[in-house]
This record gives sequence, structure tokens and C-alpha cells, in this order.
Amino acid sequence: EPELAGDFAELMTWADKHRRMKVRTNAETPADCKMARQFGAEGIGLCRTEHMFFDASRISAVRQMILAEDEAGRRAALKKLLPEQRDDFAQIFMVMAGLPVTIRLLDPPLHEFLPQGDAEFADLSETIGIAVDTLKRRADELHEANPMLGHRGCRLGITFPEIYEMQARAIFEAACDVIDKVGDAPVPEVMIPLVATRRELAILKKLVDETAAQVFAEKGKSVEYIVGTMIELPRAALMAGEIAEEAKFFSFGTNDLTQTTLGVSRDDAARFLSPYVDKGIYARDPFVSLDIEGVGQLVQLGAERGRATRADLKLGICGEHGGDPASIAFCEKVGLDYVSASPYRVPIARLAAAQAALA
Ligand code: PEP
Ligand code: MG
Repeated sequence: EPELAGDFAELMTWADKHRRMKVRTNAETPADCKMARQFGAEGIGLCRTEHMFFDASRISAVRQMILAEDEAGRRAALKKLLPEQRDDFAQIFMVMAGLPVTIRLLDPPLHEFLPQGDAEFADLSETIGIAVDTLKRRADELHEANPMLGHRGCRLGITFPEIYEMQARAIFEAACDVIDKVGDAPVPEVMIPLVATRRELAILKKLVDETAAQVFAEKGKSVEYIVGTMIELPRAALMAGEIAEEAKFFSFGTNDLTQTTLGVSRDDAARFLSPYVDKGIYARDPFVSLDIEGVGQLVQLGAERGRATRADLKLGICGEHGGDPASIAFCEKVGLDYVSASPYRVPIARLAAAQAALA
């Protein structure tokens, strides 16, 4: 198992003495969480729950959830997913005992969950007992010309609230279940993705709070938790003052914020961005290093407007930029509380955060 040792470990302890920002990690498996802790991660800044849904043993139930014709059909599928999702979160809470765990509710490009090709449709039909023709018709109804700008993020929670309700239930049941198993109680931070308006967040926050209250009453115990949002659309950054009325924390999703601010697809950018960088049109790949003059202004504006509404608003970043030293220096200037990076980038983020604080 990788672990920091010797001079490297010592250098890290020096860095930690000077750093102001916390360093968290983006992880959704217990193994990655463990590794990130060995690298010094002080919490999870982004647990992408959609990754959990791709597990081979669950994909049929996930497809059933998406392709069901009505709420009853979706709820039947969600019933199968709840125990597995509860177990996912319990394992993470055990590893992260007492450290904050930001769990992002489902944010899939919907098409990634749909069956591909006749064989997959036939298999699914046999497993869940719905005719192939019906499944194909539903898949056609859900088809999107541009899924990354479509029915994803909190839009899914608004149209199919039972999905977010299941996830919130799994989070709070898992948190209650592990209280007695770890020394420090779990610290869930429930994060709503792709929010553009205050009202979206208000509706979904209410759903999460009501689910928490129900679970705590059933279990006869409770945990402290907070609800917040990603800021990953220009509108959300502009309206951050209003959105902060409903959020205890913001996490800047600079992958989508870069995509939507520059109007450049994050999935296809590689095809033309390197000549752009060669010609000096962008100083560095804006999907790697924050475009400080452009996207960075939206981060700064979002942070300022959010804090004007709520002085103690917790601020972090969980896009790829959270592991990039130049971007980390900018986050320090803007006054973010933490950066979140992939596990292997945690040490460099600790060092960069210290250098930024010293500078
Ligand atoms: C982001 O958009 O920056 C983000 C962290 O979310 P994802 O990469 O999962 O879209
Ligand atoms: Mg995103």
C-alpha cells in the first residue's frame, strides 16, 4: 500500500504547519478513501455516487429505475438499490471516521445508464420482466441530443425525487448505523449537483431534511449533517447570493464551470485545445489549470456573493483544478476553506496549499 515515508513524509509535516486550506479528496471506494487518508486527506470533498451505480450487480436495477414507466416502477427498483447504497456509505463513513464526507447525489449523463444494443435490452427485459418494446420506447423518450446539457444533476432529483430520497435515506441510515462502530460520529455533507437556481436547491434541501428527520425518528438517534451545493454553472456563480440562502457550503465544480463558461465540451476538448495552448490563446489547458482571468472570476464572484449572504458559508473546490498548484494558489487568494483532489494528488495539494499560504 502506498504511504508517505522518510523525507517526503517530513516535508509534508512542514507544509502542514503553514497551510491554511484543508485538503480533501475525491473518492467513492473504501480503498481510495483509505489511500487518500494515508496521503493526508482530511475528508472527502466529492463522492461521485453515479460511479457506484455502474457496478455490474446493480446495473439492471439502475436501468429499471431509469426506464420504469411510473413512480411505482422506479420505487420498486430503488428498493433493491437502497441496501447496497447504504452499505456503500457505511463503508466510507467507517474509513473516514469523524472526518467530513461530502456525498454528491446522483449526477449521471442519463444515456450512460441506458442499455446499448439488442442483447442488453433482451437481457434487461428478462431480468426485470418488462417487454423489450416497452424498454426501447422508454429509452427513446429519454434520448437526448446533448446529454451533458440535459437531464442530469439536480434536474434528475427534481423530476424523479424518489431517487434522491433513496440516496438521502441511505446516507442517514448508514450514518446512524456506524455511530456505535467508530469513535467519532460520521459527518455527512449532502451535496446537490448542477444547481442553477435557488428554488431547485430549496426543493431538494427540503427533501433531504425531511428524509433525515424520518430516519432519525425511526432509528432513535441522529447525526449532525449539512446540505450544500455545487457551483458549476455560470448562473449559479452569478446568483450565489440567493443560492447561499439555502446552502451551508459551496463546492466549485470547475470541470463543468469551465465547460459551460468557455462553451467547450470537456469530453472533446483534447481535439483542439493543444494548438490553442501552443498559439498562446490559453496559457494552459483550462481543464487542467483554472482559467484565472475567466472561469476564476466566476469562482471569486460566487465566493464573495455567497459569503455576503452567509458569512460562515464553507467554500471548497472539487473540480480537477483542486489538485493543480497554480489553481490552488488562486483558491488561497479567494479564501476557499479547502481544496479536494484525487487521492494521488493529495500530497501535491498539501504542498501547494502551504506555498500559497506562505506567498
Ligand atoms: C465538476 O464539474 O467540476 C465536478 C467536480 O463534477 P463532475 O466532474 O463529476 O461533473
Ligand atoms: Mg460537474
